[in-house]
Amino acid sequence: MKIALIAHDKKKNDMVQFTTAYQHILKNHELFATGTTGMRISEATGLSIHRFQSGPLGGDQEIGALVAQNKMDMIIFFRDPLTAQPHEPDVSALMRLCDVYAIPLATNMGTAEVLIHGLERGDLQWRSILKQ
Ligand code: PGA
Repeated sequence: MKIALIAHDKKKNDMVQFTTAYQHILKNHELFATGTTGMRISEATGLSIHRFQSGPLGGDQEIGALVAQNKMDMIIFFRDPLTAQPHEPDVSALMRLCDVYAIPLATNMGTAEVLIHGLERGDLQWRSILKQ
Protein backbone atom coordinates (compact mmCIF):
# COMPACT_ATOMS: atom_id res chain seq x y z
CA MET A 1 0.00 0.00 0.00
CA LYS A 2 1.05 3.58 -0.62
CA ILE A 3 0.85 5.58 2.61
CA ALA A 4 1.33 9.33 3.09
CA LEU A 5 2.49 10.75 6.41
CA ILE A 6 2.10 14.44 7.26
CA ALA A 7 2.38 16.27 10.57
CA HIS A 8 2.08 19.92 11.38
CA ASP A 9 4.97 21.31 13.40
CA LYS A 10 3.51 20.85 16.88
CA LYS A 11 2.51 17.28 15.96
CA LYS A 12 5.84 16.15 14.54
CA ASN A 13 7.00 14.57 17.80
CA ASP A 14 3.75 12.58 17.87
CA MET A 15 4.40 11.43 14.31
CA VAL A 16 7.93 10.33 15.20
CA GLN A 17 6.57 8.36 18.17
CA PHE A 18 3.81 6.83 16.07
CA THR A 19 6.06 5.77 13.19
CA THR A 20 8.69 4.45 15.62
CA ALA A 21 6.08 2.33 17.37
CA TYR A 22 4.67 0.97 14.11
CA GLN A 23 7.75 0.80 11.92
CA HIS A 24 7.45 -2.99 11.82
CA ILE A 25 4.17 -2.48 9.92
CA LEU A 26 5.14 0.61 7.93
CA LYS A 27 8.34 -0.95 6.56
CA ASN A 28 6.22 -3.33 4.47
CA HIS A 29 4.61 -0.44 2.58
CA GLU A 30 5.57 2.37 0.23
CA LEU A 31 5.88 5.54 2.29
CA PHE A 32 5.49 9.16 1.24
CA ALA A 33 5.66 12.34 3.32
CA THR A 34 5.84 16.09 3.20
CA GLY A 35 9.43 17.37 3.42
CA THR A 36 10.11 18.04 7.07
CA THR A 37 7.86 15.29 8.37
CA GLY A 38 9.61 12.79 6.12
CA MET A 39 13.03 13.93 7.26
CA ARG A 40 12.09 13.61 10.94
CA ILE A 41 10.64 10.14 10.40
CA SER A 42 13.54 8.79 8.40
CA GLU A 43 16.09 10.19 10.88
CA ALA A 44 14.27 8.58 13.78
CA THR A 45 13.38 5.24 12.23
CA GLY A 46 15.55 4.69 9.17
CA LEU A 47 12.39 3.98 7.17
CA SER A 48 12.70 4.66 3.46
CA ILE A 49 10.35 7.51 2.53
CA HIS A 50 9.72 9.44 -0.65
CA ARG A 51 9.72 13.08 0.43
CA PHE A 52 7.72 15.77 -1.31
CA GLN A 53 8.00 19.52 -0.80
CA SER A 54 7.36 20.88 2.66
CA GLY A 55 3.63 21.31 3.30
CA PRO A 56 3.55 25.12 3.05
CA LEU A 57 5.55 24.90 -0.20
CA GLY A 58 3.16 22.54 -1.95
CA GLY A 59 3.75 19.12 -0.39
CA ASP A 60 0.09 18.65 0.54
CA GLN A 61 -0.90 19.43 -3.03
CA GLU A 62 1.61 16.92 -4.38
CA ILE A 63 0.08 14.23 -2.19
CA GLY A 64 -3.39 15.40 -3.27
CA ALA A 65 -2.39 14.91 -6.89
CA LEU A 66 -1.59 11.26 -6.16
CA VAL A 67 -4.96 10.84 -4.46
CA ALA A 68 -6.65 12.23 -7.57
CA GLN A 69 -4.75 9.71 -9.70
CA ASN A 70 -5.76 6.80 -7.43
CA LYS A 71 -2.11 6.36 -6.44
CA MET A 72 -2.43 6.80 -2.68
CA ASP A 73 -4.09 4.26 -0.40
CA MET A 74 -4.04 5.82 3.05
CA ILE A 75 -3.12 9.15 4.65
CA ILE A 76 -2.08 9.81 8.22
CA PHE A 77 -2.17 13.54 8.77
CA PHE A 78 -1.56 14.78 12.29
CA ARG A 79 -3.12 18.21 12.06
CA ASP A 80 -2.62 20.97 14.58
CA PRO A 81 -6.11 22.36 15.14
CA LEU A 82 -4.87 25.09 17.49
CA THR A 83 -2.44 26.91 15.20
CA ALA A 84 -3.27 28.86 12.04
CA GLN A 85 -1.51 27.36 9.01
CA PRO A 86 -0.41 29.52 6.04
CA HIS A 87 -1.39 26.68 3.72
CA GLU A 88 -4.80 25.95 5.25
CA PRO A 89 -6.45 25.90 1.78
CA ASP A 90 -4.08 23.09 0.76
CA VAL A 91 -4.89 21.16 3.92
CA SER A 92 -8.64 21.47 3.26
CA ALA A 93 -8.17 20.51 -0.39
CA LEU A 94 -6.27 17.36 0.53
CA MET A 95 -8.93 16.28 3.01
CA ARG A 96 -11.62 17.04 0.47
CA LEU A 97 -9.94 14.84 -2.15
CA CYS A 98 -9.71 12.00 0.37
CA ASP A 99 -13.48 12.24 0.71
CA VAL A 100 -13.98 12.48 -3.05
CA TYR A 101 -12.02 9.26 -3.62
CA ALA A 102 -12.85 7.46 -0.35
CA ILE A 103 -9.24 7.31 0.75
CA PRO A 104 -8.80 6.38 4.43
CA LEU A 105 -7.58 9.49 6.26
CA ALA A 106 -6.61 9.79 9.91
CA THR A 107 -6.25 13.33 11.21
CA ASN A 108 -5.31 12.40 14.76
CA MET A 109 -3.49 9.72 16.71
CA GLY A 110 -6.69 7.99 17.85
CA THR A 111 -7.87 7.29 14.32
CA ALA A 112 -4.34 6.57 13.12
CA GLU A 113 -4.12 3.72 15.65
CA VAL A 114 -7.25 2.17 14.21
CA LEU A 115 -6.06 2.57 10.61
CA ILE A 116 -2.62 1.12 11.21
CA HIS A 117 -4.05 -1.96 12.92
CA GLY A 118 -6.53 -2.30 10.07
CA LEU A 119 -3.66 -2.04 7.61
CA GLU A 120 -1.78 -4.82 9.39
CA ARG A 121 -4.91 -6.99 9.42
CA GLY A 122 -5.45 -6.52 5.69
CA ASP A 123 -8.54 -4.32 5.96
CA LEU A 124 -7.28 -2.16 3.10
CA GLN A 125 -7.07 -4.97 0.59
CA TRP A 126 -10.12 -3.55 -1.18
CA ARG A 127 -7.80 -0.83 -2.41
CA SER A 128 -5.79 -3.29 -4.52
CA ILE A 129 -8.99 -4.78 -5.94
CA LEU A 130 -10.09 -1.29 -6.99
CA LYS A 131 -6.80 -0.71 -8.78
CA GLN A 132 -6.92 -3.90 -10.91
P1 PGA B 1 6.28 19.54 6.59
O1 PGA B 1 4.86 19.89 6.05
O2 PGA B 1 6.30 18.08 6.84
O3 PGA B 1 7.23 19.91 5.49
O4 PGA B 1 6.49 20.34 7.82
C1 PGA B 1 3.75 19.52 6.82
C2 PGA B 1 2.78 20.64 6.88
O5 PGA B 1 3.01 21.58 7.64
O6 PGA B 1 1.76 20.60 6.17
